[in-house]
Formats: sequence, structure tokens, C-alpha cells
Amino acid sequence: MKKLSTSQIATIDQQHIWHPYSSLTNPFPAYQVDSADGVRLKLADGRELIDGMASWWCVIHGYNHPTLNAALQAQAEQMAHVMFGGIVHEPAARLAQTLVEITPDGLEKVFFSDSGSVSVEVAMKMAIQYWQSLGVQGKTRLLSLRNGYHGDTFGAMSVCDPVTGMHHLFSNILMPQIFSDSPQCTFNTEWDESFISDFEEKIATHSHELAAVILEPVVQGAGGMRFYSPHFLKRVRELCDDHNVLLIADEIATGFGRTGKLFACEWAGISPDILCLGKALTGGYMTLAATLCTQQVSDGICQGEAGVFMHGPTFMGNPLACAVANASIELLLASDWRARIATIQQQLESGLAPARELPNVADVRVLGAIGVIEMKEPIELARIQKEFVDQGVWIRPFGKLVYVMPPYIMGQHDLATLCDVMVSVVKNYR
Ligand code: PMP
Repeated sequence: MKKLSTSQIATIDQQHIWHPYSSLTNPFPAYQVDSADGVRLKLADGRELIDGMASWWCVIHGYNHPTLNAALQAQAEQMAHVMFGGIVHEPAARLAQTLVEITPDGLEKVFFSDSGSVSVEVAMKMAIQYWQSLGVQGKTRLLSLRNGYHGDTFGAMSVCDPVTGMHHLFSNILMPQIFSDSPQCTFNTEWDESFISDFEEKIATHSHELAAVILEPVVQGAGGMRFYSPHFLKRVRELCDDHNVLLIADEIATGFGRTGKLFACEWAGISPDILCLGKALTGGYMTLAATLCTQQVSDGICQGEAGVFMHGPTFMGNPLACAVANASIELLLASDWRARIATIQQQLESGLAPARELPNVADVRVLGAIGVIEMKEPIELARIQKEFVDQGVWIRPFGKLVYVMPPYIMGQHDLATLCDVMVSVVKNYR
């Protein structure tokens, strides 16, 4: 097949392709990437960019990794796909076993799906079907936190932040959910019970109609890159138990070491009833997600009138995705990832610290391999993006947030460059 030229690609892109959260009448420029290796994206014009985004949290081992490539190739020769209805295979069995072993205690049943948003739909449906099956009427709503983000499908949108999410666009269509204040504490703030009082009031008032609480443990990602005290999460678990409400932890962004623990729930020493995983599950190679639940939840669902859980995506348990996920998790667990994340955290802390003094910066915060500069005013994306690219880094801000979550393999020198460029671009940004 003859390759398309750079200008042909640009023309097709402008005329036909939707990008995430984009306009087709007034499109942002899209940078053409020819290949990627290690922590670098190679542009069609020959420039190389140090990748600060890990392709939206996913690419923890870097691009073009020989172990992951080999796992993918070996599985492709075995079978790329087979339906999951009535069929099981080694890559899915191995992955399910591993996930049960490494996730917080009690999560024993695994439902595979295609993307993070779908895994959230599955989690919500599990929670609702659970109460229905037990014959408990009316427990159909979810309690979520302001500044939360859980995906772009309709169920997921309904539990995203009601202001910064898409509620205003679809207000008549989205399921009406309950929201409590986002945690008013940072990761390190000394605990005060007042931080949980709004949540406590909401769960107490609405428990009769709540199937579950859904939240991102410790790090609220796309809804504001906010870090909060693990004690908040601990109290949420206690209150869910007190009020007979299930807890769904959305670890799609935080899972697989990003915050310094393998799963962010570990900061609070809690287990949710239902857990969503995605993104870094395959080391960023392909799309795959998983929703895990306890036996209590699966028993409840399967004892009900339907007797089955009513969901079944076409590409459920895709063998290629499961094989690469197995290789990625093995690679992660065999590495000294805790030390790597601690080193990245230290370097982000010192590298981004100079931004604290800048007049246009509201806050600088770091947790694990996540570094955030929060500006006082929203940023003009296309303009700042070009400045980053011109200085050799790939960083994609949103709202007031300029942030990085690099691949774990990023070396000291590249990370120093990433931090320096971040600080200097922010400094000169008017
Ligand atoms: N939950 C969280 C916490 C996320 O960060 C995301 C993706 N940014 C999602 C859900 C949705 O995942 P996906 O984009 O794979 O549908």
C-alpha cells in the first residue's frame, strides 16, 4: 500500500476526522506522529518530543517496548480475537487471576470490557442490578464527588462533575445523580471531620435511593487534577458500610503505580465493592478495561430474577489486549517501580518548585508520577501547545492545568528538560 504524504494526511484530517473534544469547523492543528520509541514521539517533520503525557496516563513502560511488542506478536500468531460468549482462553484467564491477586482484598470476579467509560457503565449497572436482584426497591442512583471524572458515555457522564462535565449539554437526558462537595483537603492536610461532613449528610439523606458511591480514590484526574487525603477515602468506606451503599472505586487513571501505590485505594487501606481499571492496564498498547467486584456483589446479581449479569461487549476479553496486559503487568511487578515513582516524584517536586513563585500560577502539586501547575487563568490550548512543541516536549494542558504524568521509564535528564520547559513556558505565558 502506498503511504500517504504528510500533506495528504493533513488534508484528510482537516476535512474528515474528529479529534477528542474538538470542532470540525474550527479545528486545532494536529501534530503528525510517525513513530514513537521510549519516551519520545517522532513527528513527521523530523522533530522529536519528550512525552510528558504517557498518552493520557497509559504508556507506563514507554513506546515500542520489545517485551510488549513480542507479547503482541506471539498472540497475533496464536489468535487475534475470538468471541467471549461460551469461550475462554489463556490470556484472559491469566489476566483475571493476576488482577484478583494484585488488587485490594475481596475483589474476586472480573468483567472485561473495551474502555474505561464502558467499565464505569458496567460498574454502575452491577451496583443497580445488585439491589434490584436482592429485591430492594428504589436503590438506583449514585452519589459522586464534585470535580470527579468518570468518562464520556451517558452513565459515566451522569456522575462527572455537574459544572465542568457535560451536564449542561445533556441535562434533560442524564440520569439525575447526587453530588457531594469534592474533598476540601489536600493529600497531606491533617484530618478534620468537617472535610467529610457534606458527604456524610448526602449519604445519610439519600441512602434509601443510593445503589453506590462512585469516586476516583485520592486523585481526581480530568475533573481538576486534585489530590485529597486518604483519610477521606477511609471515611467514605465506613459511611458506605454504615448506610448500606456499595462503593465503586474508579482507578482507571490511578491504577498500576501512578500515585506511588499499585492502586490508590491502598493509601487508605480500603477495598471497594467494585473496581474499574483501564488505561495503563495494557501499558498503553491497546484499549482494554476491567470491572472487578466482590463475591457478595456477584452472588447478589446472579441470585436475582435475571440470574445473569446483563452485559457482553463484542470484543470482551480480546486476546491481543489481554496478552499485552499480562506482559505489561509482569514487566511492572518485576521492576523496582516503587523506587522509580519515588525518584520521579522527588524530581517533579524540585523541578516544578520554581513555578510556585510565578505571578500567574495558583498552585503547584505533585503526587507520585503526577506533576501539576495550576494557573490562575484558563490557558489558550493551541498557543501553549505550539510553544511546548517548539521546545521539544509534548504536554497537553486543559482548563487552568498544565500537568505531566510521564512514562515511568523517563530518565533524569529528560525529566529535568520536561520540568524546565514547563516552568519556562508557564513563566512567559501571557
Ligand atoms: N475514569 C477516569 C478516572 C478516567 O481518567 C477516564 C479517562 N480519562 C475514564 C474513566 C474514561 O476512560 P476511557 O477514556 O478509556 O473511556
